[in-house]
Formats: sequence, C-alpha cells, structure tokens
Amino acid sequence: MNAFTVAKFGGTSVADHAAMSHCASVIEENKTTRLVIVSACSGVTNLLVELSNGVDCPLMQQTIISKIAEIHFDILARLPDAPDVKNQIHAILDQIKTLSISVLDVPSSKITDSLVACGELMSSHIFTHLLNAQAIKARFFDVRQVLKTDANYGKATPNLELISQYAQELLIPLCKEQVVVTQGFMGSDSLGNTTTLGRGGSDYSAALLAEAIQADILEIWTDVPGIYSTDPRIASQAKPISEISFNEASEMANFGAKILHPATLLPAMRRNIPVFVGSSQAPKLGGTWIRHQAQASPLFRALALRCNQTLITLTSLNMLHAYGFLANVFNILAEHKISVDLITTSEVSVSLTLDQTNTCGGAPMLPKEVEKALEKLCRVTVEQDICLVALIGNKMGESRGGAAKIFGALKDYNLRMICYGASNHNLCFLTHTNEAKDVVRALHKELFE
Ligand code: ASP
Ligand code: MG
Repeated sequence: MNAFTVAKFGGTSVADHAAMSHCASVIEENKTTRLVIVSACSGVTNLLVELSNGVDCPLMQQTIISKIAEIHFDILARLPDAPDVKNQIHAILDQIKTLSISVLDVPSSKITDSLVACGELMSSHIFTHLLNAQAIKARFFDVRQVLKTDANYGKATPNLELISQYAQELLIPLCKEQVVVTQGFMGSDSLGNTTTLGRGGSDYSAALLAEAIQADILEIWTDVPGIYSTDPRIASQAKPISEISFNEASEMANFGAKILHPATLLPAMRRNIPVFVGSSQAPKLGGTWIRHQAQASPLFRALALRCNQTLITLTSLNMLHAYGFLANVFNILAEHKISVDLITTSEVSVSLTLDQTNTCGGAPMLPKEVEKALEKLCRVTVEQDICLVALIGNKMGESRGGAAKIFGALKDYNLRMICYGASNHNLCFLTHTNEAKDVVRALHKELFE
C-alpha cells in the first residue's frame, strides 16, 4: 500500500442516514482510507452524560433512552435488514439501562465512562453496516483492544507504547484486508475497564491511531469546510484558511477553536502526519491542511474564543521580594492535579486560569480542599463569567504597529487580563462574558477584513 489515510468523522457527520452516506462517499473517493474513526451520532453523548449524572425518575430515564434508541433505529430502518447489528444495538441499549440504574446507587466516573462510550459503540456498528451495504468492504473493530490508557476516568491518558504495539499486532493486519471502522473518544485501562479521553476526544483518538499505524494522512471530517479566521457564527466575515502550521493550529485548538480537540495535533506533530480538516457534507468545498510548515505565515492568522473561564487571583504581601511563593502555589496545584492555563504575575499577586477539558464541560471549579490549602498561603479570589479571546499569529513580538492596531480596536472594551510573550504565536485577553463576542468582532474587523 502506498499511502495510508486515517479518516475521522465527527458527531454531526454521522448524525443520521443521510450524513453517514456522505461519509461513505468520502471513503469511496479515497481508496487509501483504511482506518475510520467515528464519534457518537450527534446529541447522543450529551444524552448519555445526562444519564450518567443520575436521572432518578424512571419515566425521564426511559424517555432519554428511547431518544437514543430512536436515533439509531432510524438509521437502521433505512438500511438492508441486519439482525445481528440490531441485536448489537439492543444489547448496548440494555447496557445503557443497567448502567443508568447503577450510577444512581454509586455515582462514579468509572460507570460514567462505560455509559458515555456506548454512543461510539452504536455509531460504529451502524456505520460498518452502512459501508458494507454500499459495497465498501468494512469491519467493526473494538478500539479498547488497542487504545490503552491509564485509569483516570473521564480524562484518561493514553499509553503510547502499548497503543503502538497493539496497533502493529492487531490493527494493521486488518487494515490491509478492508476498511476498519472503530470508535473515537474511548479506550480501556490495564484491567480492561472502559475509559474516555474527555469530551471531544475522538479527534485525539484518531490522531493517536494515525500515529500508531504510521499513517500518511489524517483526515478530520466535520460539519464545516475547514478552519476559519474565526468562528463564522460570531463574525460573518470569517475567512477560510487553506493551509496552516501545526503550531498555529494547536494554539487555535488550545484556545477554544471548536474545530479540533486541543490534544489532537500532538501525535500528528510527533510523526509529522499532515492533517486535513473538511466537511463530510461538502467535501468539494475543500478544507484546511495543517502541516509542519505552512507556505505563508501571516502576522495575524486567526481569533479563537473560549468561554467559561475560571480566574483565580492569589495575593500575598509576603511575596514582596520573597522567593518560593510561586513554587508553593504550584506544588499545591500539582498535588491536586490542577492544570493551569493562562498566568500572569505582579510583585505581590498571581492570577491564573484553570484548564478545563474534562468529560462534563462547563466552567472548571477550584476544589474546596485546594482553596483551603491555598488560603494558608495567601488570599484567594475566584472569578467566573469570563471568556478568553486568543489572537493567533506569527512573530507578533517582532512587528511594529501591530499592537497599536490591536489595542485601537479594543479601546471601548474592558480587558480583565492580558497574556503575551511566552509564545510568539498568541496574544490572549480575558474579557467579561457579555462583551466577549463583540471583542472578537472588533478585532476581526480591524485585523482580518
Ligand atoms: N462523542 C464524544 C463527545 O461528544 C467524543 C467526540 O465526539 O469527539 O464529546
Ligand atoms: Mg464531537
């Protein structure tokens, strides 16, 4: 085989029969596609998360499970009858029911992971059947055999060595025979328990598998034709980007551009696998290539917006001309596995935002015990209702006049915090939620239109 393409289809791409059929055409068009990773059908993970939060009213619980069943049986109804696939879906639905009940007795992130992973299991069974019905020889593969992780349920860390080993042993031989369809988002720990990589983790799964099978191209198929200079729903003048570097794209993902999961690009970068992002509904519209080096590296590339930020400010008069304060703060955060995102310091205080990729979404909370531990060192203030606006570009520190344009565009807005300098590729602002979209629009107008 010359080239080897891994294609990942997101939730909207596999939302229903019509959407799945578009994905089948994408696979048909590119004969080098050997491994296909699917998300759960659109909306299904949210319903499963609802169940995992504990729905104790039996009627409500049944309503949610029926909704999930309907989404999948609607697709099956449009395909040739396949009793074995139907049985698989019934068995998974039974499991959803059992898990939804057991989570009421003992809420646990372990049960949550087994529950939310059911979405990907169902979509992948059905998509395999759809491919075969369209004469694309395909087989279902349970990714838990290969995608090995630790037991940090809800946000498991992949074990790269094992993934690579099992991919060589189990996956590559199968890919040589036919198209292999497997699940994104989920994996398993050393005991075989189901784990997940965090919400939106299917992109990351696809990249990890592409790395492990040493693919030549990774395609991420979604509902938009590639990456834009900002979210077109916020600024209607947003422009498509045909090619972008790994560095710029990972900054965008980190800072909330919804199109890619933040961790996605790391495996692709490690093996230098070009990544294509496009729309499965409209592949002819083209998309964005993400490569090690893009031909153009403009000063301003894109704007990303991430809401639901939690800003923590730690103030200690003892910090004045002292040493060790930051070390103590970060030791406490590290002990509690709290990941920090933006940070800025003054002589007597430090402000930081909390990282927020976990299975449940929403604004990250500072756990009470961490707050207590920090309060022994300093005064702790927690602010919410804050958004992060990130301007992504190249060599912004070396340009003259760039700053005047940026701050000129922002003259009517309140900036709660500014971070710049650690990376040449981004300049970040925190703003209050009610102004955030206006800030993005104002900057987009000044810098990109
Ligand atoms: N289905 C999972 C989610 O909605 C994973 C993914 O789609 O990437 O978060
Ligand atoms: Mg998704």
